[in-house]
Amino acid sequence: MSARIQVVIVGGGTAGWMTAATLAMSFAGRLADVTLIESEDIGTVGVGEATVPHIRFFNQRLGIDEADFIRRTNATFKLGIEFRDWGRIGDSYIHPFGDFGHDIDGLPFHQYWAHATRGGADGLPKLEDCSLPIVAARDNRFTPPLEDPRSIGSTYSYAYQFDATLYAAYLRDYAEARGVVRIEGRVDAVEQKDDGIGAVRLADGRRIAGDLFIDCSGFRALLIDGALKVGHEDWSHWLPCDAAWAVPTANAGALTPYTRATAREAGWQWRIPLQHRTGNGHVFSTRFTDPETARSVLMDNLEGEALAEPRMLRFRTGRRHRQWVGNCVAIGLSAGFLEPLESTSIHLIQLAIGKLIELFPSGGVFDPADEAEFNRAMALEYDRVRDFLVLHYCATDRDDTPFWRYMRTMTLPSSLTEKIAEFRERGIVASYREGMFLPASWLAVYYGQRIMPDRLNPLIADIPMATSRDHVARVAAACASAAKAMPLHEDYIARIKAAA
Ligand code: FAD
Repeated sequence: MSARIQVVIVGGGTAGWMTAATLAMSFAGRLADVTLIESEDIGTVGVGEATVPHIRFFNQRLGIDEADFIRRTNATFKLGIEFRDWGRIGDSYIHPFGDFGHDIDGLPFHQYWAHATRGGADGLPKLEDCSLPIVAARDNRFTPPLEDPRSIGSTYSYAYQFDATLYAAYLRDYAEARGVVRIEGRVDAVEQKDDGIGAVRLADGRRIAGDLFIDCSGFRALLIDGALKVGHEDWSHWLPCDAAWAVPTANAGALTPYTRATAREAGWQWRIPLQHRTGNGHVFSTRFTDPETARSVLMDNLEGEALAEPRMLRFRTGRRHRQWVGNCVAIGLSAGFLEPLESTSIHLIQLAIGKLIELFPSGGVFDPADEAEFNRAMALEYDRVRDFLVLHYCATDRDDTPFWRYMRTMTLPSSLTEKIAEFRERGIVASYREGMFLPASWLAVYYGQRIMPDRLNPLIADIPMATSRDHVARVAAACASAAKAMPLHEDYIARIKAAA
């Protein structure tokens, strides 16, 4: 084995090129030589437009200039996700990328708000009015957060909505400029050796050997499943959606700095505005509806003119039992998929890449402890995202269709049952040591889907009702004035484009 480890990435979708770009930046020419194989004939899954804020740190680590990225991927900014019709038909709330107010005297702001509601709803701002990213999003405004931690302008973060195909192309340029070798070809055989994969063979007869193989082949999971037969933990009893129709439309109306997820009879519909078009899709469960009905639901609920025929994708929710086996690491859809609600897939790719870099088998030494740590960490991340997604479905009063009746009565993962009980009993969002969704995210869904705490923190009992109500009024006023001072989202983007 040469001193430089030979890395072979199979697949050039978002996962493949994110991995290639990071390995190139971190190791190329020193610890590793990186080759990526992809097949234009097979193509990529071609969806995946909405992200969570961590993507910014991914781009920053690569040294990507934000303005250049916004221009080249037709990206817009995202302050959160609006959920319509989830708790009840007619409900709407936003899961913001940011806090509700500030902690006051060591108590979370939402405790003051929940306390204040006990004095009556009259004249009391809604919890949403106390979140700057929500107030700004509802008014289609955007500006990056401030750094001063005392300012209400520092209480949020943001992500992007972008054209995933353009993003993969952007990262391809980046990776190739740093030495990644791209091979166009179709893998049609995998050679195994004792501790994993030895080489892959292409349809034209070429043989590509390597030390470390990264399976980014999407749902096909050519290496981790096709060759190594690592099974899949099926979560379709908790997340039964297994198909989606997707269609782009012309932009209609204001450019919203948020994604929308509208609950439907047997699933939900996404709306993701980009600079040049809007991405739409209907995620549904084939156990509860048929594809033709699902297609009509999507086409009957579009805001702009359809720019193409809708296409259908099938998937299965769950994750691989192990994502690193021997000298093979699965990243992206080959490792698992949790359906697109809350836009977590690209983030899970990012986490896997970060963990791989941390545990990288430098010099070609594969330590079983590293493999075990990778598998432990990734399993935990998938499990926690799963719990958060399931919360959206189970915390509902809807019983208007068989789908919703199933969702509201299904048996939950015990980790989620405990978490919901903690909130109901005391208004506590127990923080995970690891896991991507912080307390504000859980609060948004709990309150947004009508789960209220029975009791509050005992310290709040000493606080006069008028004080709690004053805090709420003050924070809501600060959010309203800070949002008003922000530019419109579309003007902010126009400025970035004009500065090119
Ligand atoms: P793919 O894009 O499928 O890429 C697989 C690659 O492997 C391709 O390059 C292909 O050519 C190659 N390949 C396969 N077989 C071979 C072979 N035999 N030989 C050579 N090459 C081969 N994620 C988000 O973060 N946000 C979202 O909003 C979001 N929405 C989604 C909506 C839907 C309906 C679905 C299904 C997914 C969504 N995702 C979303 C997930 C997101 O699309 C994926 O996580 C992301 O695109 C990464 O995919 P991938 O690179 O793993 O696989």
